[in-house]
Amino acid sequence: MSITAKAESLSATITDAVSALAAETDSAKQDVTFRAWLMTMSRFYTYSFGNQLLIASQCSTATRVAGYGKWLEMKRQVRKGEKAIYILAPIISKGKELTTEDGETRRLRGFRAATVFDIAQTDGEELPKPPTHDATEGGDDLLPRVETAIRHAGIALVYKVIPCGAQGLSKGGTIEIDERQGIAAKCGTLVHEFAHELLHREDRSQGKQQRELEAEAVAYAVLTHYNLHPGSRFYLASYGITGEMLTASMQTIAKTARQIIEKIEAKGEGKEAEGGSALPLAA
Ligand SMILES: [Zn+2]
Repeated sequence: MSITAKAESLSATITDAVSALAAETDSAKQDVTFRAWLMTMSRFYTYSFGNQLLIASQCSTATRVAGYGKWLEMKRQVRKGEKAIYILAPIISKGKELTTEDGETRRLRGFRAATVFDIAQTDGEELPKPPTHDATEGGDDLLPRVETAIRHAGIALVYKVIPCGAQGLSKGGTIEIDERQGIAAKCGTLVHEFAHELLHREDRSQGKQQRELEAEAVAYAVLTHYNLHPGSRFYLASYGITGEMLTASMQTIAKTARQIIEKIEAKGEGKEAEGGSALPLAA
């Protein structure tokens, strides 16, 4: 196959993969496990960065925290003698003087101490499990190749235990991966974080939802190319991402997926084209 034919066939594979993912993501919302999980997650409050730090400093292993009453609602009881985790709850009141055209505004009056408990401090009914977005099989050959491609792009790679459920983190020049994942899942997480490094390291103007859309769709397209099948649809659906949104971002996803595949295929021989793709873009 000529280079152009190869590039065209790669572009077609990537576009097909993203189209399939768009359809899968829309249907993921009907999945019973996903709906049950989403329902539970909607009951957990998303804490501010400051409070996340407060929680981590008092309970470094905390994964899901909620107030005493909230745990009761979820049919779990805080065990006797468990030490509460202190956070700061904003005291908010409606301020007439701050009312804008689009309705009422709220005014921060201060903070009060509030207490929460981690799920590990409670007993009771099991919470629904998140549907996995991991590929479960394969990846033995791919893993070292992705690792090499990342290192050749000048990004440090650190395997460690990441608390609080994150599978990987893109820190700008460093990627951290939770070492407790299986091989196929590691491949997916690595490519996801690699995409964050390439796309969002300098430009963070996009919101979290769009950044996760791009990173996970790139991971899906790259893994599909290597015959691994990650369940990215659940991850995407959990961010409220739709098939339409994926299709709208096709160009960025396809370009980045191809860039990563080229880096993997370059086998660390310094062939990778820095700052762009050597292959023509799909029409
Ligand atoms: Zn991400």
